[in-house]
Amino acid sequence: MNILFAAAEVAPLLKTGGLADVAAALPAALRKLGHDVRIVMPRYQVIRLSKTPQQGPIAGFFAAAGVRVEPVEVFQTTVKDTPLYLIDVPAAFDRSQLYGMADDDARFVLFARSVLGLMQHLRAVEGWHTEVVHANDWHAGLLPVYLKTLFARSFPAVASMFTIHNLAYQGTFSPFTLHLSGLTPGGDMTVHRDDDEQFNFMARAIRTADVITTVSPTYAREVLTPEYGAGLDGVLRERRDRLFGVLNGIDTEIFDPSHDPQIAAPYSLKDMAGKAACKQALQAELGLSDDPTLPLIGMVSRLTDQKGLDLVTDVMPDLLAAGAQFIVLGSGDPQYEQTFADLHRHHGNQIASVLKFDAALAQRIYAGCDMFLMPSQYEPGGLGPLIALRYGTVPIVRATGGLNDTVREGSNGNGFRFQPYAVAMLQATLNRALMAFKDQDSWAALRERGMREDFSWNTSAAIYSELYERARQLHGPGNQASGS
Ligand code: ADP
Repeated sequence: MNILFAAAEVAPLLKTGGLADVAAALPAALRKLGHDVRIVMPRYQVIRLSKTPQQGPIAGFFAAAGVRVEPVEVFQTTVKDTPLYLIDVPAAFDRSQLYGMADDDARFVLFARSVLGLMQHLRAVEGWHTEVVHANDWHAGLLPVYLKTLFARSFPAVASMFTIHNLAYQGTFSPFTLHLSGLTPGGDMTVHRDDDEQFNFMARAIRTADVITTVSPTYAREVLTPEYGAGLDGVLRERRDRLFGVLNGIDTEIFDPSHDPQIAAPYSLKDMAGKAACKQALQAELGLSDDPTLPLIGMVSRLTDQKGLDLVTDVMPDLLAAGAQFIVLGSGDPQYEQTFADLHRHHGNQIASVLKFDAALAQRIYAGCDMFLMPSQYEPGGLGPLIALRYGTVPIVRATGGLNDTVREGSNGNGFRFQPYAVAMLQATLNRALMAFKDQDSWAALRERGMREDFSWNTSAAIYSELYERARQLHGPGNQASGS
């Protein structure tokens, strides 16, 4: 199948979260299954200025957002042997900031229009006919909408899948965005703010995509409830027969403790000595006391409320009293950055905080820690615990979203988990983990169970492959969405 995979981030070119990992690894896994997958993303300034080889322009045309018409050039590179098209619209993407600008609506209208322009080019010039467009998150959300409306005649046979990586980021703008998009007002103009009309990229994508997925089975159920639906639960319930949860995998070549150039010493199930060396090196790197017997707990996370950081800061006194060591790598909300910086300053031999994005250090943390903490309020997928398990680092999570699907506790478990979102619950769970750590033999068995699991994309890529077929079946002239 010819699949065009559209995302705002693709690792390693540009990554702020899990979407980037998925956008690189899933297409590669699908190609192994025989599909001709190609990726498309914006050519941000950081990419234009980077050393990544970029051929082109391989195509040039114009794209419109309202009365604004912009020249577009397309460049090409590869990620994990997958062709990656870079949409170069200087007025929209040649800036130092990625998201969060006043004209984000125009920028991502232009992105969607440019992807459609690219599809036209590929068809006319290369004879490559897109069969499925796989649009990810709100940035690519207008693609399924255009395929059902303004571009339905140009691409009658192109089916669409829309994947929600995080329902909290919907791309909501004022009704004026309608003019930029060229779409018509419709039933989903007002989706969840009763008194405030909005143009909502994600709501429109959910309404029109042939198939909708999200990144874990549990999150796919949770988003149908008002508690987790972020205002879109009603829209999602209307389309629940097309909504599927597919658990993310990880790139098991990049995340491989036996071949990871970033870590102090390689290790594997056959010989775990390297893991102790990684712990020692990490303690030294971050200035923690180098005692191998102390339990070392790590977090690698965006510092936002979503990640359960209020619970984490509340349990810090208990962790200190229990003699545990704690490392956090992350950036985000200044309030959490300040709290972790203060803890680091006052308890430097027990607590370390590194407040930036650092992919190499993240790998040393996954390798060097004994436990990995992720007590999220909600978590669509949650790549952290998957990577941790691969490195023999035992996850401690709140059982929500993908974390609920990944982490099991008990005789045949791979980690520790709790459900009600409360400090006392996290405290009790950490206590269970710290107790278990004292029995090094059973701890080694727990660690081993995690390392034996299959976190590759193979299983999930096969499911996506079936869902692309389903999208093509569901796609059809009788299936035109109204009011979009
Ligand atoms: P989300 O997509 O909500 O950010 P995930 O756990 O699914 O959460 O994915 C986050 C990804 O980004 C993981 O691969 C994690 O290791 C990585 N990551 C998060 N913060 C940092 C950081 N400060 N430095 C390096 N990697 C990070």
